[in-house]
Amino acid sequence: MIIVLKHGATKAEIDHVVQKIKEHGLTPHVSEGKERTIIGVIGDDRVIENLPLSIFPGVDKVMPILSPYKLVSREFKSEDSLVAVGPASAGVKIGGKRLHVMAGPCAVESLERLMTVAEAVKASGATILRGGAFKPRTSPHTFQGLGAEGLEHLVEARKKTGLPIVTEVVDTRDVELVARQADILQIGTRNMQNFQLLIEVGQTDKPVMLKRGLSATIKEFLLAAEYIMKGGNQRVILCERGIRTFETQTRNTLDLAAVPVLKSLSHLPVIVDPSHATGKWELVAPMAKAAIAAGADGLMIEVHANPEEALSDGEESLKPPKFHAMMQELRKIAAAVGREL
Ligand code: PEP
Ligand code: MN
Repeated sequence: MIIVLKHGATKAEIDHVVQKIKEHGLTPHVSEGKERTIIGVIGDDRVIENLPLSIFPGVDKVMPILSPYKLVSREFKSEDSLVAVGPASAGVKIGGKRLHVMAGPCAVESLERLMTVAEAVKASGATILRGGAFKPRTSPHTFQGLGAEGLEHLVEARKKTGLPIVTEVVDTRDVELVARQADILQIGTRNMQNFQLLIEVGQTDKPVMLKRGLSATIKEFLLAAEYIMKGGNQRVILCERGIRTFETQTRNTLDLAAVPVLKSLSHLPVIVDPSHATGKWELVAPMAKAAIAAGADGLMIEVHANPEEALSDGEESLKPPKFHAMMQELRKIAAAVGREL
């Protein structure tokens, strides 16, 4: 259920409604919008079915939430959410007019290699550095990432470049460590329905970028985001990274229609990852352009100085000069659709 308050409802009126909801063992989520405040009621709201909430002082109307997901829905919050990343001084907010590009290697391989790419992507206009320290590889025989050492390299790269860092967390036991170091916690496609991990990151105070599961429907994707928000973490970013289909020419099939669909169903920002979606570096720039044209709030792009020697995903990684050229092209598309890059 959603309780929409009147324009200008006082704090005492809002607190009174919140108090009543809590007295019935339900959880109120207060969302203060520019226009007015909305209270989402989480839990089995049949217990307040007979409470005349609509005549409480300050209340405009009471509405059922029809979608299966609640906190992530547009019904709950009509305005786009802006997710602030890193220290306020970094000025990175995802979901507004300004687009943000997260770029870097698939995996952190060494501090030296990471620094080369970090400096290059920053110079080309990336505002967030990506790099996997804990790698969820399909095969147990391939490079699994540097782990805690990789995280330290990312922290060092942030210190030197000023770029906030995004990195994946794959294990509930590492959430505290990664949340202490990273600016955005990434939940990878293989863990989109690892509910315990979602609950765990939902209890941190760091933004979470949730990647769409390999075979997840949009409904399942949004319900996974709901797990994170239900824990109290409102700073969720959705990432479309391609889904499994019968097509084998590309690594996955980039579901670009998911971008406007997600933006209409949810207030959360949407990022597109054309690197993992296509698996081929030649396809990254065209799909990145299409993603921005479709309304994405940003991109995640894999970049490697020497893809032939990459320990993972070299075939989909752009070399820095190609990344630079793509960013210039993307600025034109961004301007054409009223965005900035
Ligand atoms: C990644 O971004 O490093 C990654 C492993 O992506 P995905 O979870 O989308 O496969
Ligand atoms: Mn990768």
